[in-house]
Amino acid sequence: MVSSNGLATTQPIFSFGLISDVQYADIPDGSSFLGVPRYYRHSILVLRRAIKEWNTHQKHNFVVNFGDIVDGFCPKDQSLSTVKKVLDEFEMFRGPVYHMIGNHCLYNLPRRKLLPLLEIQTLDGRAYYDFSPVPEYRFIVLDGYDISAIGWPQDHPKTLEALKILREKNPNENKNSPTNLEGLERRFLMFNGAIGKQQMEWLDGVLMEATNLEQKVIVCCHLPLDPGAGSEKGLLWNYDEVMNLIHRYNCVKVCLAGHYHKGGYSIDSHGIHHRVLEAALECPPGTDAFGNIDVYDDRISLVGTDRMKSTDMHFNPPS
Ligand SMILES: [Zn+2]
Repeated sequence: MVSSNGLATTQPIFSFGLISDVQYADIPDGSSFLGVPRYYRHSILVLRRAIKEWNTHQKHNFVVNFGDIVDGFCPKDQSLSTVKKVLDEFEMFRGPVYHMIGNHCLYNLPRRKLLPLLEIQTLDGRAYYDFSPVPEYRFIVLDGYDISAIGWPQDHPKTLEALKILREKNPNENKNSPTNLEGLERRFLMFNGAIGKQQMEWLDGVLMEATNLEQKVIVCCHLPLDPGAGSEKGLLWNYDEVMNLIHRYNCVKVCLAGHYHKGGYSIDSHGIHHRVLEAALECPPGTDAFGNIDVYDDRISLVGTDRMKSTDMHFNPPS
């Protein structure tokens, strides 16, 4: 495309909004285990300003929420009303919103209650799905708490599988403690989880289909998939297996995640960009952390607001 002043310009193919870790609760401000301040009541205002911004610009085809919309400290008799309150804010966006579940969501509500509220319509409590907003692109939303000790009934095979992994990998009484775990082994904490066998097979099938259709793929998961983009304490348990599968194809260009509030960015050995998003929860009053991504043929451009950093992610030329 050539603009009126004769300079070549490129319009994005489409754009979408994104926000992560709102972790709203109607409780006084607090701090993380490491002492990072958390603004539980302010975070919903960040979301409100994000929606207003996205609606004002009207170029955003959809919004992706990277999970943890409610905080684990939310009084449990308020869990349902709090989740609904946050979802009412998302409802104000004039377009589809794609949600994923995070550990904090699951501390508040079990899967069977949470998934219908988030309008994740899948069988058997699964929370992974894909969608294709334009023929050239496909989004894969992974369920990082597929194998998890939280969210499933206590006697569910997936709970038992998760507890077995934690018993083997984490010797601490408190399975959220990384004491005595070294390096990447520090990811074996109860607030993380894994992708199960069935989901891996599904992922393989979607990647194959996307390859056949010559689609570029953006993978979204609450849990980060690359150690370079965040802390090893926040990684998906079987991030290595998932990335080995993804690396067998050339279709995945970017992996986006939440969970690690500070945010991060890396490019892995295969040239895939990993961008972990800064949390809305940790915005001091009056500040923001949300963004939008402009998607082009050869790159995506994250335009961050305030505390969310902007990142240009150019794809490797096809080999
Ligand atoms: Zn989380």
